Amino acid sequence: MISVVIPAYNEEESIPILYRKLKEVLEKLGEDYEILFVDDGSTDNTFAVLKELASQDEKLKIIRFRRNFGQTAALYAGFQYAEGDIIITMDADLQNDPEDIPLLLQKVREGYHVVSGWRKDRKDPFLSRRLPSMIANWIISKVTGVHLHDYGCTLKAYRADIAKKLELYGDMHRFLPALTQRFGAKVTEVVVRHHPRRYGKSKYGIGRTVRVLLDILLVKFLNDYMTKPLYVFGGIGLILLTLGLLTLLYLFGVKILADEDIGRRPLLLLGVLLVLAGIQLASTGILAEMLVRIYYAGKGEKPYVVEETINVEPKSYDSYH
Ligand code: UDP
Ligand code: MG
Repeated sequence: MISVVIPAYNEEESIPILYRKLKEVLEKLGEDYEILFVDDGSTDNTFAVLKELASQDEKLKIIRFRRNFGQTAALYAGFQYAEGDIIITMDADLQNDPEDIPLLLQKVREGYHVVSGWRKDRKDPFLSRRLPSMIANWIISKVTGVHLHDYGCTLKAYRADIAKKLELYGDMHRFLPALTQRFGAKVTEVVVRHHPRRYGKSKYGIGRTVRVLLDILLVKFLNDYMTKPLYVFGGIGLILLTLGLLTLLYLFGVKILADEDIGRRPLLLLGVLLVLAGIQLASTGILAEMLVRIYYAGKGEKPYVVEETINVEPKSYDSYH
Protein backbone atom coordinates (compact mmCIF):
# COMPACT_ATOMS: atom_id res chain seq x y z
CA MET A 1 0.00 0.00 0.00
CA ILE A 2 1.12 3.55 -0.80
CA SER A 3 0.54 6.46 1.57
CA VAL A 4 0.71 10.01 0.28
CA VAL A 5 1.33 12.50 3.09
CA ILE A 6 0.53 16.16 2.41
CA PRO A 7 0.97 18.95 4.98
CA ALA A 8 -1.40 21.80 4.26
CA TYR A 9 -1.53 25.22 5.84
CA ASN A 10 -4.08 27.57 4.31
CA GLU A 11 -4.23 25.94 0.89
CA GLU A 12 -7.99 26.02 0.22
CA GLU A 13 -7.75 26.87 -3.50
CA SER A 14 -5.04 24.35 -4.34
CA ILE A 15 -6.43 21.31 -2.57
CA PRO A 16 -9.34 20.36 -4.86
CA ILE A 17 -7.09 20.62 -7.94
CA LEU A 18 -4.30 18.64 -6.29
CA TYR A 19 -6.76 16.03 -5.06
CA ARG A 20 -8.20 15.41 -8.51
CA LYS A 21 -4.80 15.12 -10.16
CA LEU A 22 -3.46 12.90 -7.40
CA LYS A 23 -6.48 10.59 -7.64
CA GLU A 24 -5.94 10.21 -11.35
CA VAL A 25 -2.29 9.24 -10.93
CA LEU A 26 -2.91 6.90 -7.99
CA GLU A 27 -5.86 5.12 -9.64
CA LYS A 28 -3.67 4.45 -12.67
CA LEU A 29 -1.10 2.67 -10.51
CA GLY A 30 -3.62 -0.05 -9.77
CA GLU A 31 -2.41 -0.45 -6.18
CA ASP A 32 -3.97 0.18 -2.82
CA TYR A 33 -3.32 3.69 -1.55
CA GLU A 34 -4.35 6.35 0.94
CA ILE A 35 -4.06 10.13 0.85
CA LEU A 36 -3.28 11.66 4.22
CA PHE A 37 -3.75 15.39 4.49
CA VAL A 38 -2.39 17.00 7.62
CA ASP A 39 -4.20 20.27 8.17
CA ASP A 40 -1.58 22.22 10.06
CA GLY A 41 -3.94 24.58 11.89
CA SER A 42 -5.26 26.33 8.78
CA THR A 43 -7.31 29.45 9.37
CA ASP A 44 -8.96 29.49 5.93
CA ASN A 45 -11.39 26.89 4.54
CA THR A 46 -8.76 24.18 4.10
CA PHE A 47 -10.41 21.87 6.60
CA ALA A 48 -13.92 22.38 5.23
CA VAL A 49 -12.69 21.70 1.70
CA LEU A 50 -10.89 18.56 2.83
CA LYS A 51 -13.84 17.36 4.86
CA GLU A 52 -16.15 17.71 1.89
CA LEU A 53 -13.81 15.67 -0.30
CA ALA A 54 -13.31 13.07 2.43
CA SER A 55 -17.05 12.54 2.79
CA GLN A 56 -17.02 11.04 -0.72
CA ASP A 57 -13.75 9.16 -0.45
CA GLU A 58 -12.66 6.97 2.42
CA LYS A 59 -9.14 6.73 1.02
CA LEU A 60 -8.80 10.42 1.83
CA LYS A 61 -7.83 10.80 5.46
CA ILE A 62 -7.43 14.00 7.44
CA ILE A 63 -5.46 14.78 10.54
CA ARG A 64 -6.29 18.21 11.83
CA PHE A 65 -3.87 19.95 14.17
CA ARG A 66 -5.18 22.16 16.98
CA ARG A 67 -2.96 25.01 15.81
CA ASN A 68 -0.13 25.63 13.37
CA PHE A 69 2.75 23.39 14.40
CA GLY A 70 4.81 23.69 11.21
CA GLN A 71 5.60 21.54 8.22
CA THR A 72 8.01 19.28 10.09
CA ALA A 73 5.43 18.35 12.73
CA ALA A 74 2.84 17.79 9.99
CA LEU A 75 5.13 15.40 8.13
CA TYR A 76 5.98 13.66 11.36
CA ALA A 77 2.31 13.11 12.18
CA GLY A 78 1.73 11.87 8.63
CA PHE A 79 4.53 9.33 9.04
CA GLN A 80 2.97 8.04 12.27
CA TYR A 81 -0.50 7.65 10.73
CA ALA A 82 0.57 6.25 7.37
CA GLU A 83 -0.38 2.62 6.89
CA GLY A 84 1.37 2.02 3.60
CA ASP A 85 4.77 0.41 3.21
CA ILE A 86 5.87 3.26 0.97
CA ILE A 87 5.28 6.86 1.98
CA ILE A 88 5.25 9.70 -0.53
CA THR A 89 5.43 13.26 0.76
CA MET A 90 4.48 16.34 -1.23
CA ASP A 91 3.34 19.94 -0.88
CA ALA A 92 -0.31 20.94 -1.03
CA ASP A 93 0.28 24.04 -3.15
CA LEU A 94 0.59 22.34 -6.58
CA GLN A 95 4.32 23.09 -6.78
CA ASN A 96 5.05 19.35 -6.81
CA ASP A 97 3.52 17.29 -9.58
CA PRO A 98 1.68 14.04 -8.78
CA GLU A 99 2.77 12.76 -12.20
CA ASP A 100 6.25 12.25 -10.77
CA ILE A 101 5.03 9.73 -8.20
CA PRO A 102 5.48 6.62 -10.41
CA LEU A 103 9.10 7.63 -10.97
CA LEU A 104 9.75 7.81 -7.22
CA LEU A 105 8.01 4.50 -6.60
CA GLN A 106 10.11 2.82 -9.23
CA LYS A 107 13.31 3.90 -7.47
CA VAL A 108 12.05 2.62 -4.10
CA ARG A 109 11.33 -0.70 -5.74
CA GLU A 110 14.84 -0.75 -7.13
CA GLY A 111 15.93 -0.96 -3.50
CA TYR A 112 16.42 2.63 -2.33
CA HIS A 113 15.06 3.57 1.09
CA VAL A 114 14.70 7.26 0.34
CA VAL A 115 14.15 8.85 -3.06
CA SER A 116 14.37 12.61 -3.10
CA GLY A 117 12.98 14.88 -5.77
CA TRP A 118 15.41 17.24 -7.47
CA ARG A 119 13.77 20.45 -8.68
CA LYS A 120 16.32 20.98 -11.42
CA ASP A 121 14.21 23.71 -12.92
CA ARG A 122 12.92 25.30 -9.74
CA LYS A 123 10.19 27.89 -10.11
CA ASP A 124 10.81 30.04 -7.04
CA PRO A 125 12.31 33.55 -6.77
CA PHE A 126 16.11 33.48 -7.17
CA LEU A 127 17.36 35.87 -4.53
CA SER A 128 15.07 35.02 -1.63
CA ARG A 129 14.68 31.27 -2.18
CA ARG A 130 16.94 29.62 -4.76
CA LEU A 131 20.21 31.31 -3.81
CA PRO A 132 19.91 30.58 -0.07
CA SER A 133 18.93 27.01 -0.97
CA MET A 134 21.98 26.61 -3.19
CA ILE A 135 24.23 27.66 -0.34
CA ALA A 136 22.37 25.50 2.17
CA ASN A 137 22.44 22.48 -0.17
CA TRP A 138 26.17 22.85 -0.66
CA ILE A 139 26.83 23.03 3.08
CA ILE A 140 24.45 20.20 3.98
CA SER A 141 26.06 18.02 1.35
CA LYS A 142 29.55 18.76 2.70
CA VAL A 143 28.62 18.37 6.35
CA THR A 144 26.38 15.32 6.21
CA GLY A 145 28.12 13.40 3.46
CA VAL A 146 24.77 12.72 1.79
CA HIS A 147 25.16 14.20 -1.66
CA LEU A 148 21.90 15.53 -3.06
CA HIS A 149 21.27 18.56 -5.23
CA ASP A 150 18.04 19.57 -3.57
CA TYR A 151 17.37 18.71 0.06
CA GLY A 152 14.47 21.13 0.27
CA CYS A 153 12.18 19.38 -2.19
CA THR A 154 9.24 17.93 -0.29
CA LEU A 155 8.38 15.48 -3.05
CA LYS A 156 10.06 12.36 -1.74
CA ALA A 157 9.41 8.67 -1.31
CA TYR A 158 10.39 6.69 1.76
CA ARG A 159 10.23 3.12 2.74
CA ALA A 160 7.79 3.39 5.63
CA ASP A 161 9.97 1.54 8.12
CA ILE A 162 12.64 4.23 7.71
CA ALA A 163 10.23 7.20 7.80
CA LYS A 164 8.56 5.92 10.95
CA LYS A 165 11.89 5.78 12.76
CA LEU A 166 12.54 9.50 12.36
CA GLU A 167 12.07 11.64 15.45
CA LEU A 168 11.31 15.05 13.99
CA TYR A 169 10.97 18.46 15.54
CA GLY A 170 11.91 22.06 14.78
CA ASP A 171 12.57 22.59 11.06
CA MET A 172 14.12 19.21 10.46
CA HIS A 173 12.08 18.41 7.39
CA ARG A 174 14.86 20.02 5.39
CA PHE A 175 17.33 17.31 6.31
CA LEU A 176 15.25 14.17 6.15
CA PRO A 177 17.57 12.33 3.76
CA ALA A 178 20.54 13.18 5.97
CA LEU A 179 18.69 12.10 9.10
CA THR A 180 17.88 8.73 7.61
CA GLN A 181 21.62 8.08 7.39
CA ARG A 182 21.50 7.20 11.05
CA PHE A 183 19.60 4.08 10.06
CA GLY A 184 21.85 3.33 7.13
CA ALA A 185 19.29 4.32 4.50
CA LYS A 186 20.23 4.14 0.83
CA VAL A 187 19.36 7.54 -0.61
CA THR A 188 19.04 8.65 -4.21
CA GLU A 189 17.43 11.47 -6.18
CA VAL A 190 15.43 11.85 -9.35
CA VAL A 191 14.70 14.97 -11.36
CA VAL A 192 11.11 16.08 -10.81
CA ARG A 193 8.92 18.83 -12.21
CA HIS A 194 8.29 22.00 -10.30
CA HIS A 195 5.59 24.60 -10.76
CA PRO A 196 5.27 28.14 -9.53
CA ARG A 197 2.86 28.64 -6.63
CA ARG A 198 -0.58 29.34 -8.10
CA TYR A 199 -2.60 30.39 -5.07
CA GLY A 200 -1.73 31.95 -1.74
CA LYS A 201 1.72 32.85 -0.51
CA SER A 202 4.79 30.86 0.46
CA LYS A 203 5.00 30.36 4.20
CA TYR A 204 8.74 30.84 4.16
CA GLY A 205 11.09 33.72 3.39
CA ILE A 206 14.77 34.57 3.40
CA GLY A 207 14.66 35.06 7.19
CA ARG A 208 14.87 31.33 7.67
CA THR A 209 18.34 30.99 6.16
CA VAL A 210 20.23 31.52 9.38
CA ARG A 211 18.01 29.04 11.16
CA VAL A 212 18.67 26.54 8.42
CA LEU A 213 22.41 26.95 8.87
CA LEU A 214 22.07 26.40 12.62
CA ASP A 215 19.91 23.37 11.92
CA ILE A 216 22.67 21.89 9.79
CA LEU A 217 25.00 21.94 12.77
CA LEU A 218 22.27 20.31 14.81
CA VAL A 219 21.74 17.58 12.23
CA LYS A 220 25.46 16.90 12.09
CA PHE A 221 25.42 16.68 15.85
CA LEU A 222 22.40 14.40 15.93
CA ASN A 223 23.69 12.07 13.26
CA ASP A 224 27.16 11.62 14.64
CA TYR A 225 27.02 12.37 18.30
CA MET A 226 23.49 11.98 19.53
CA THR A 227 23.91 8.28 19.93
CA LYS A 228 27.40 8.41 21.44
CA PRO A 229 28.25 11.81 22.96
CA LEU A 230 30.58 10.10 25.38
CA TYR A 231 32.87 9.20 22.50
CA VAL A 232 33.01 12.79 21.31
CA PHE A 233 33.44 14.67 24.57
CA GLY A 234 35.17 11.82 26.30
CA GLY A 235 37.54 11.42 23.33
CA ILE A 236 38.57 15.06 23.35
CA GLY A 237 38.76 14.94 27.14
CA LEU A 238 41.10 11.96 27.09
CA ILE A 239 43.38 13.61 24.54
CA LEU A 240 43.63 16.77 26.65
CA LEU A 241 44.13 14.74 29.81
CA THR A 242 46.93 12.76 28.20
CA LEU A 243 48.64 15.92 26.92
CA GLY A 244 48.32 17.48 30.36
CA LEU A 245 49.74 14.45 32.13
CA LEU A 246 52.65 14.25 29.66
CA THR A 247 53.40 17.93 30.27
CA LEU A 248 53.42 17.44 34.01
CA LEU A 249 55.51 14.30 33.68
CA TYR A 250 58.03 16.22 31.59
CA LEU A 251 58.24 18.98 34.21
CA PHE A 252 58.54 16.40 36.95
CA GLY A 253 61.43 14.82 35.03
CA VAL A 254 63.13 18.19 34.68
CA LYS A 255 62.73 18.76 38.39
CA ILE A 256 64.09 15.35 39.41
CA LEU A 257 66.83 14.80 36.82
CA ALA A 258 68.09 18.35 36.22
CA ASP A 259 67.10 19.63 39.65
CA GLU A 260 65.66 22.80 38.11
CA ASP A 261 63.01 24.97 39.72
CA ILE A 262 59.76 24.39 37.80
CA GLY A 263 57.51 26.56 39.93
CA ARG A 264 57.67 29.52 37.56
CA ARG A 265 57.45 27.63 34.24
CA PRO A 266 54.36 28.63 32.17
CA LEU A 267 54.30 25.00 31.09
CA LEU A 268 53.25 24.06 34.60
CA LEU A 269 50.13 26.18 34.30
CA LEU A 270 49.39 24.67 30.87
CA GLY A 271 49.80 21.14 32.21
CA VAL A 272 47.46 21.73 35.11
CA LEU A 273 44.87 23.41 32.86
CA LEU A 274 44.99 20.56 30.36
CA VAL A 275 44.47 17.98 33.08
CA LEU A 276 41.54 19.93 34.52
CA ALA A 277 39.94 20.54 31.10
CA GLY A 278 40.42 16.88 30.22
CA ILE A 279 38.64 15.71 33.35
CA GLN A 280 35.88 18.26 32.79
CA LEU A 281 35.24 17.21 29.21
CA ALA A 282 35.30 13.52 29.99
CA SER A 283 32.69 14.02 32.70
CA THR A 284 30.62 16.20 30.34
CA GLY A 285 30.65 13.24 27.99
CA ILE A 286 29.27 10.99 30.68
CA LEU A 287 26.57 13.53 31.55
CA ALA A 288 25.64 13.91 27.89
CA GLU A 289 25.43 10.16 27.58
CA MET A 290 22.98 10.10 30.47
CA LEU A 291 20.93 12.90 28.88
CA VAL A 292 20.68 10.96 25.66
CA ARG A 293 19.39 7.94 27.56
CA ILE A 294 16.76 10.09 29.27
CA TYR A 295 15.85 11.70 25.95
CA TYR A 296 15.17 8.35 24.38
CA ALA A 297 13.36 7.05 27.43
CA GLY A 298 11.03 10.05 27.58
CA LYS A 299 10.21 10.39 23.92
CA GLY A 300 6.53 9.63 24.31
CA GLU A 301 5.79 13.30 23.68
CA LYS A 302 4.83 14.45 20.19
CA PRO A 303 5.66 17.85 18.64
CA TYR A 304 1.99 18.49 17.73
CA VAL A 305 -1.55 18.22 19.08
CA VAL A 306 -4.32 16.61 17.06
CA GLU A 307 -7.71 18.29 17.15
CA GLU A 308 -9.61 15.72 15.13
CA THR A 309 -9.23 13.08 12.46
CA ILE A 310 -11.45 12.03 9.58
CA ASN A 311 -11.57 8.57 7.96
CA VAL A 312 -8.82 7.47 10.34
CA GLU A 313 -8.81 6.62 14.03
CA PRO A 314 -6.72 8.98 16.18
CA LYS A 315 -3.71 7.29 17.73
CA SER A 316 -4.16 6.64 21.43
CA TYR A 317 -1.45 9.19 22.26
CA ASP A 318 -3.21 11.79 20.08
CA SER A 319 -6.71 11.61 21.52
CA TYR A 320 -7.30 14.03 24.33
CA HIS A 321 -11.08 14.01 24.24
N1 UDP B 1 3.07 24.09 5.40
C1 UDP B 1 2.56 23.57 6.59
N2 UDP B 1 2.77 24.26 7.74
C2 UDP B 1 3.47 25.44 7.78
C3 UDP B 1 4.01 25.94 6.57
C4 UDP B 1 3.80 25.24 5.40
O1 UDP B 1 1.93 22.52 6.59
O2 UDP B 1 3.60 26.01 8.85
C5 UDP B 1 2.83 23.37 4.15
C6 UDP B 1 2.26 24.22 3.03
O3 UDP B 1 0.83 24.26 3.09
C7 UDP B 1 2.74 23.50 1.79
C8 UDP B 1 4.10 22.99 2.25
O4 UDP B 1 4.06 22.94 3.67
O5 UDP B 1 1.91 22.40 1.47
C9 UDP B 1 5.24 23.86 1.77
O6 UDP B 1 5.02 25.20 2.16
P1 UDP B 1 5.30 26.41 1.15
O7 UDP B 1 4.72 26.12 -0.18
O8 UDP B 1 4.85 27.64 1.83
O9 UDP B 1 6.90 26.40 1.08
P2 UDP B 1 7.79 26.67 -0.24
O10 UDP B 1 7.24 25.83 -1.36
O11 UDP B 1 7.67 28.12 -0.53
O12 UDP B 1 9.16 26.24 0.19
MG1 MG C 1 5.38 25.82 -2.05
